[in-house]
Amino acid sequence: MRAVVLTEPERLRVVDVPEPDCGPREVLVRMRGLGLCGSDVAVYTGSRPVTAPWLMGHEGAGEIVAVGAEVENRQVGQPVAIEPNYCCGRCAQCRAGFTSACPNRVIVGMNHPGLLAEYVAVPAEFAWPAAETVALEDLVCTEALTVARSAIRRSGVAPGDRCLVVGAGSQGLLLCLALHELGAHAVVQEPHEGRVELARSLGAEAGDGDGYDFLFETSGVPQALRTGLDRVAPGGTVLLVGISERPLELSSADLVYRQLTLRGSLIYDHPNDFADTIDALGRGTISPGKVLQARFDLTEAAEAFASVRTVAGKSWISF
Ligand SMILES: [Zn+2]
Ligand SMILES: [Zn+2]
Repeated sequence: MRAVVLTEPERLRVVDVPEPDCGPREVLVRMRGLGLCGSDVAVYTGSRPVTAPWLMGHEGAGEIVAVGAEVENRQVGQPVAIEPNYCCGRCAQCRAGFTSACPNRVIVGMNHPGLLAEYVAVPAEFAWPAAETVALEDLVCTEALTVARSAIRRSGVAPGDRCLVVGAGSQGLLLCLALHELGAHAVVQEPHEGRVELARSLGAEAGDGDGYDFLFETSGVPQALRTGLDRVAPGGTVLLVGISERPLELSSADLVYRQLTLRGSLIYDHPNDFADTIDALGRGTISPGKVLQARFDLTEAAEAFASVRTVAGKSWISF
């Protein structure tokens, strides 16, 4: 089968490798689509180091083609979205339902081989069957959408609340879409006009000024957070989703005088967050595939990765 590996920073190669075996508690998935995000770019450029040759990709969807001997609740032919964070299920965090903080977490594409191959073996409980009615484009966005919906869940946003989304890259766009789904008002703060337009087409509202109840930071740019913080209402809540190693421009006075709540939100918690998104996709209440703006073939993987930072919306690879 064909797979795409990173041989050195910014160098990808399509290679021919054996198909993986399907373990007794795994399913074998024929991949059909893979979304790309900033985490993939970090691996691609070498800022998130991996051992070459490295199998890339973590936002995948496909179809089950084989089921392990001990798997009872998955069937050949089911379309699935892959949850690419395998928590251990045994540590204190996992037992408390806080699996995103599991210290033993297997992170597909980061510390475990990725999904950019024609076939991948996945632990059955992390391959989520979806309704036949869900379009491939929507299924490909399941993981990234779950990151956005989990940040919203953790924030406590309610219908009608006013939210400022800082950054309209793919995560910012999906947040706008998910806030709109919930009946909250989303306004974006983003310098790139094309991304602002795309956000508006996904349900973001025009708006400037301040007094926002919630801020969702997705850009990872400290200066953008600084600008956004001044626009949050007293008593507001700030969720950090974008990740940067750079120090924030923030003092305790910023938080104390205006009594702001600051919270980081990392991925999602297994299994409920993925289950909720798969449910929403099946009901058709949200269509995240609209954020996919650039489609590439497996053989065009290098172009696809190079496009992530320039394309407004999300790039994806179809198999
Ligand atoms: Zn991602
Ligand atoms: Zn754990």
